[in-house]
Amino acid sequence: MKCRLCDSTAIAALPRHNSGFCRTHFIEFFQKQVRKAIRKYAMFSRKDRLLVCVSGGKDSLTLWHVLNESGYDTTGLYIDLGIGGYSRASLEKAESFAEGIKRELIVVDFAREYADIKRLAALSKRTDCSTCGVVKRYFFNRVALEQGFDVVATGHNLDDEAARLLGNILRWQIDLVRKQSPLLDSDEGLVKKVKPLFRLTEQEIAIYAFLNRIDYLREECPMSRGTTGLIYKDILNRIELESPGTKHFFYFQFLERRDDLFSDGAVERKDRPSLCRRCGMPCSEQVCAFCRLTDYLKRSGQTPDEPA
Ligand code: SF4
Ligand SMILES: [Zn+2]
Ligand SMILES: [Zn+2]
Repeated sequence: MKCRLCDSTAIAALPRHNSGFCRTHFIEFFQKQVRKAIRKYAMFSRKDRLLVCVSGGKDSLTLWHVLNESGYDTTGLYIDLGIGGYSRASLEKAESFAEGIKRELIVVDFAREYADIKRLAALSKRTDCSTCGVVKRYFFNRVALEQGFDVVATGHNLDDEAARLLGNILRWQIDLVRKQSPLLDSDEGLVKKVKPLFRLTEQEIAIYAFLNRIDYLREECPMSRGTTGLIYKDILNRIELESPGTKHFFYFQFLERRDDLFSDGAVERKDRPSLCRRCGMPCSEQVCAFCRLTDYLKRSGQTPDEPA
């Protein structure tokens, strides 16, 4: 196959665009998708300080790479969740990447300061991933607020967003559908959150990472096995194989139509967040989900101040 834009051989096939690109034009295509995402949602500018949440995997390190190459002011944030060898290996990848691009990496050692995610999930009787989600969202926001960052950027891609939308629709979680967006604006106590890779698939990110020699952790989090998110991704990939472009259409058309879909007040907007009376972070109840989680540690006899 020839590159869509020149006479060179295509090294990356893009079935959803019914074309392929050579190395140079693939990287151009990739960077253009990121620029388009940033511009369309007015995510940030070069004056902003960006906190890039990294896990050591391909999506987050690619995000950091592309933002850094584009001249943005970036700092990485890694949260050690205490997931055994996986956490150790992912921290190493994040640290060596930060060193390579000469940028600061902030590390929150959650497992040492509180407990590992599995233990906290067992105590609170939540799933591992929902416990992990509460912890990550809390520290993304807290670190950004405390250290004066303007924006928190995460590496969510088109596959993540389409799978999430499918899951929310299958359960008719309309309020979650309404809120799903590549941009969550700032509010009292909440730093703006953005997903600049939302226009790119996992496969395209893997190609960009390969072409740019990004050394990421290939191993998936052991707790991701069998999660509904992975099942929805798998289903969408099977549909995509039969009908290329469906995933793109499903999510992009949702974004196009979301405002119309919810303009009739069918879904009531929730009140603005209040502030947790314990930690002062935003929440929808009097005490935030993170403080309620750490209550389980206190009740089990291990306070957050005592290392696990
Ligand atoms: S798979 Fe679940 S536990 Fe593992 S990092 Fe993701 S959200 Fe956290
Ligand atoms: Zn080309
Ligand atoms: Zn709190």
